[in-house]
Amino acid sequence: MLTDYHLHLRPDDTGEAERYFTVENVDRYLAAAEEHGIEELGVSEHVYRFVQALEIWQHPYWENQAHDDLDEYCAFIRETPLRLGIECDFVPGSEDRIANLLQRDFDYVVGSIHFLGELGALDDRRYDIWEYVSDPDELRARYFDWQAELFSPGLFDIVSHPDLVKLWGSDRPAPRRDPRFHYEPLVEAIAESGIAVEVSTAGLRKPVGEIYPSRAFAEMCVEAGAVFALSSDAHSPDQVGFGYDQAIELLDSLGVDRICVFDHRQRRLEPLGREGEAAKVKASEGGS
Ligand SMILES: [Zn+2]
Ligand SMILES: [Zn+2]
Repeated sequence: MLTDYHLHLRPDDTGEAERYFTVENVDRYLAAAEEHGIEELGVSEHVYRFVQALEIWQHPYWENQAHDDLDEYCAFIRETPLRLGIECDFVPGSEDRIANLLQRDFDYVVGSIHFLGELGALDDRRYDIWEYVSDPDELRARYFDWQAELFSPGLFDIVSHPDLVKLWGSDRPAPRRDPRFHYEPLVEAIAESGIAVEVSTAGLRKPVGEIYPSRAFAEMCVEAGAVFALSSDAHSPDQVGFGYDQAIELLDSLGVDRICVFDHRQRRLEPLGREGEAAKVKASEGGS
């Protein structure tokens, strides 16, 4: 089976709900998924595009984005064949308010860190964190510590783009330390919490040109017994399943032959691969 769970029905910053939360638009995503042999498709809009998110954090970026009603979104997605997810930022200190907002009927919740608080964002030049934390090792230390904190309250099912800090690639200074040193606290937290690790092909579309997470990170996760969820973080139908051959190859080469499937926040593992390939795994196990 292949999944694409971390999807957005519209581009960042723009896109009114009335234009993008439509059956026609969902059909475009479903058609793209079918073309790529993706059986399980779910949507996970950014929490900060909903007015309810302002209960969690009142950053100017969120205030500019928070237009839609979360319950209307949930109701609309439930009328479609899509799984219902949400990409929710982790804001330390707001755990109770996040938990409150997530008391809805989601199939899964993708936990993300885009901002290191008021300091700035890892993925947006308008609020560039690098202006405040210019040392690449210090930035990584801070970022991975925050990521590691994300799990303890048990709010999320999947940790998304787990090494987003690398997004700008060679546009920013490289760390001096072995990256594995920085990964350590996060991998430990993943092992303890059992949260699924997202393999996201979105990094292939960014300056870094590499899947999230890096191979070294994924190796450490495998050693720690972690499970994986597969997504493209598409913001348009043409990005659905983007770069999946590379993602499948990476997971294959690490000996990962199962991926996570979610249903009302219950997780199960299914054989990884397009239909024919997954069947091979099943056959080799005696057709279980
Ligand atoms: Zn994200
Ligand atoms: Zn996303």
